Amino acid sequence: MAKLRSVKGMNDLLPAEIGRWHRVERTFERMAERYGFAEVRTPILEPTELFVRSIGEVTDIVEKEMYTFEDKGGKSLTLRPEGTASCARAYLQHNVPNLEPVSKWYYLGPMYRRERPAKGRYRQFYQAGCEVYGDPGPHCDAEMIDMVVRFLEALGVRDVEVLINSLGSGDTRERYREALLAYLRPHAAKLSEDSQRRLERNPLRVLDSKAAQDQEIAADAPRLIDHLGEEDAAHFEELKATLDALGTPYQVDSSLVRGLDYYTRTLFEVRGRGGDLGAQNTLCGGGRYDGMIRDFGGPPVPAIGFAMGIERLLLSMEEAEGEAALDAFLVVQAPELRRDAVVLLRKLRDAGFRADADLRGKSMKSQFRRADKSGARWALVLGEQEKAAGEVRVKDLRGDFEGNVADGDELIAKLRG
Ligand code: ATP
Ligand code: MG
Repeated sequence: MAKLRSVKGMNDLLPAEIGRWHRVERTFERMAERYGFAEVRTPILEPTELFVRSIGEVTDIVEKEMYTFEDKGGKSLTLRPEGTASCARAYLQHNVPNLEPVSKWYYLGPMYRRERPAKGRYRQFYQAGCEVYGDPGPHCDAEMIDMVVRFLEALGVRDVEVLINSLGSGDTRERYREALLAYLRPHAAKLSEDSQRRLERNPLRVLDSKAAQDQEIAADAPRLIDHLGEEDAAHFEELKATLDALGTPYQVDSSLVRGLDYYTRTLFEVRGRGGDLGAQNTLCGGGRYDGMIRDFGGPPVPAIGFAMGIERLLLSMEEAEGEAALDAFLVVQAPELRRDAVVLLRKLRDAGFRADADLRGKSMKSQFRRADKSGARWALVLGEQEKAAGEVRVKDLRGDFEGNVADGDELIAKLRG
């Protein structure tokens, strides 16, 4: 039989690397909660239509990257390529807009896109993201951008660049679309195949293309920011002023478009420059999508959100020293004492210690080797003598202490000290 292997571009995370993941996830959860967000968990599988309608038919994700299949009932399902659409669906399905005026949600979990795997680009990858429903901004937009920056600082990701832009809304978009089309049409023949095909239906997509010939043409395209209506412009000015007041650094990048159809007004991206990141340097992408909830058949609730790729964060982080997985490792002098060892281990675990032992009946020497390797601070020894005296021998693997301690409160106190 051929060797069994994981799907290409989908990675296993083994215990040796999970400590860094936990650090990122826990820091994110704490930060989001500090800013008033609460967690939501939605299914990994959704009706295909959800993503086609929200992300847009003429996008890389929907055209090329989705894992779509029919289930046994003939229904088309898709592994979620991102989190925003699922959150919006859940928000409406559970009638949340009628229950509270503003909702702040965060999520964390795997996403699926059939892309060409590279460093920082996988087919299963994890995103951490936030969504705010019901606040039209721009202060809410500034808070969100600021939170991302604080989060990256807390992780020790330095040397990041925050780019912002405004895509305007309603009329602005229509007027800009016409101006852009008028500019692009004469260049049509020189555009990439994808862009030629998308030109009439979605000219904005051309600006977000990664193809070199498209980027060259896009560089001289009219800028949306010059076409902003009065209210959109005021919104953008207040966003910038609030970021200034917070001291959050940013740069306006009028060429920032991003790959999804649903964005309006505020758009932002955080790029990393440090670490091991390489070409896939976008850590975080986000923006406002004031039309989506209404397009889904709900009330006109404005919304904004972002998503960060956890693998890319890890690539851009300084290598932090891993934390030991155990507090105490119990060495058992003789196989007959293993039942007592199991009872002692449970006492330690009930007291909150991470405790373990090698219960296969190996030699003391081999058990001590495992105690050393485990990184545990304490080695505990249970022998006949100790058992008879109701004691445990305690050895501080990072200090000098070695001696017998009464099994019970005294032992717990010693290990806490
Ligand atoms: P890119 O331009 O790199 O393809 P994107 O615009 O498709 O990114 P979004 O859909 O905005 O990305 O997703 C937000 C974040 O999720 C990205 O900034 C990135 O950190 C991460 N991400 C997206 N696709 C992948 C992937 N295939 N593998 C790993 N991380 C990813
Ligand atoms: Mg992409």
